[in-house]
Amino acid sequence: MAVFKCEKCGATKEGRCKPKKCTGCGAADCMMKQEEKSTGCGCACACKSKK
Ligand SMILES: [Zn+2]
Repeated sequence: MAVFKCEKCGATKEGRCKPKKCTGCGAADCMMKQEEKSTGCGCACACKSKK
């Protein structure tokens, strides 16, 4: 599972493939894949500061 983030509004969405539209602002083709290595546990919670 990858995380995609909107470059325009910053909304994130999990999915196996790239979303066509942002679920936050509705803009098309603005979702960029986020690398999970910086998030630590990869659960998208507040524990990314933990090593
Ligand atoms: Zn957006």
